[in-house]
Amino acid sequence: MNEGRGSTIDRREFLLRASATAAAMAATLRGAPARALQAGSTLSLPPLPYSQNTLAPHISETTISIHYGRHHRAYVQNTIKLIAGTDFEKLALEEIIRKASRQPDWAALFNNAAQVFNHTFYWHSMKPGGGGEPSGKIGERIKESFGSHQKFVDAFSSAAASQFGSGWAWLVDDGDKLRAVKTANADTPLTMSLKPLLTIDVWEHAYYLDYQNRRADYIKAFSDQLLNWEFAEKNLA
Ligand code: FE
Repeated sequence: MNEGRGSTIDRREFLLRASATAAAMAATLRGAPARALQAGSTLSLPPLPYSQNTLAPHISETTISIHYGRHHRAYVQNTIKLIAGTDFEKLALEEIIRKASRQPDWAALFNNAAQVFNHTFYWHSMKPGGGGEPSGKIGERIKESFGSHQKFVDAFSSAAASQFGSGWAWLVDDGDKLRAVKTANADTPLTMSLKPLLTIDVWEHAYYLDYQNRRADYIKAFSDQLLNWEFAEKNLA
């Protein structure tokens, strides 16, 4: 599949947000899975937060086994190879992603490193017995930003369904409100000064064995049965 760059988030918006402070960046990192913060030189495949058969029947053990054990592992291995002997080796994963995103010569490194982060974030965005309407602070922010839980589901599902080809849909905090956005290929909110709260992988390898071309059914299962609101709440500032 195409590993090329190109986000569906408006690039002018990205430039407007480029003045975000280092403190805001650090706040973004606080919500990331701890193992994703490891320095590049010690990069390894982070453990799944559950066993590979736990999300069935919504996502099968076979899908998780291939998606985590082959795709995610390959992104980690490729990143390790690409940073070997370079200045990137000393950097944490998020720093590698941000630095490589500004250098066309490092597009392959950006794609693989961003996919390491995105996949780790995706595994944590799901849990068995998840989904439904959230309570607590995240529930309040969802209602403030979208009007209702159902309007959030509609916006998030629309972003995920309308991403043409491979990519991701995200719930992000843009500082003022929560938004549902989509990114193409390996692109990630980390390079756009948007704080990621949740994500769904809509590359075909995430759902094709279980749902074939029925991406909408996979998205519905994610929202109704798997979505990990505790992880989203933890990622709020
Ligand atoms: Fe994937």
